Amino acid sequence: MIRVICLGSSASLPSSKHVPSCFAVKYGGVFLFDCCEGAQRQMMKYGANYGSIDCVFITHLHADHFLGVFGLVQTMGLNGRKEELKIFGPKGIKSFLESVFSLKPLQPAFPIVVKEVSSGVVFENKLFSVKAFPVKHSTNALGYALEEHAKIKFFEDKARALGVEGKLFGELLEKKSIKIGRKTIKLEQVTFEEKGKKIVFSGDSMYCDSLVEAAGGADLFVCDSSFSDSEKELALEKKHLTALQAAKIAKKAKVKKLLLTHFSHRYSDRSILVKEAKQEFSNVLSAQEGMELLV
Ligand SMILES: [Zn+2]
Ligand SMILES: [Zn+2]
Repeated sequence: MIRVICLGSSASLPSSKHVPSCFAVKYGGVFLFDCCEGAQRQMMKYGANYGSIDCVFITHLHADHFLGVFGLVQTMGLNGRKEELKIFGPKGIKSFLESVFSLKPLQPAFPIVVKEVSSGVVFENKLFSVKAFPVKHSTNALGYALEEHAKIKFFEDKARALGVEGKLFGELLEKKSIKIGRKTIKLEQVTFEEKGKKIVFSGDSMYCDSLVEAAGGADLFVCDSSFSDSEKELALEKKHLTALQAAKIAKKAKVKKLLLTHFSHRYSDRSILVKEAKQEFSNVLSAQEGMELLV
């Protein structure tokens, strides 16, 4: 299972109740999607080990999405981290972060690789890949899609009927074909591919086709929902989404679950935004700090 932990759920600023929108994904390591101010403290609080972070994916260079990087890097250094940390983000992030990290008091004690990305697969490991895609915001901004690799599953009865037992399952997976007596059993004879899970983070965005396309068929779609429909003019001006627009995208993209986030502080009661979204899409939740979803 892929664990998605909400570290922050608000727009723009921290408050006594909320921190800016930011998520940790736990799956064979810890992967951060945006890194808000206080992200490291939120990780300590909600059980995502900041020492195990492999990669940080920054959606854009508005301060609510990256201010936590500096504190996090300091703490990792003080705790003796030696492993490389990869930070991904849009054009401009490399010179910006490298100039900050070149200042003596903020020099990292371990290697940091900053990669500027725009679209396509930007990271891949044994379990999943992460694709970046452009979105429409008031600055150069990205969304990210985490796509789990397809899994090979056995038709167990069929395999056993052909004599595949015990250790032979592993052997067949590794060698792709094995001999049992006089028979050769091929992996594709007794297996099928199970589609991997897909989690999509919109970052900050207004409505755009690239977001609908990237969200297509997602198991979990984490989407900007800064405003309610009554503020749709403001949403347009600030280049954000309303809850209703997020739900329309979720419906069009045929996602399974919509998680609204990046709420303006004007909404102390976020249930109105969920209610609005439900007019278009039923499986919707509002993000809140400490919430953990299994995908
Ligand atoms: Zn923002
Ligand atoms: Zn922004």
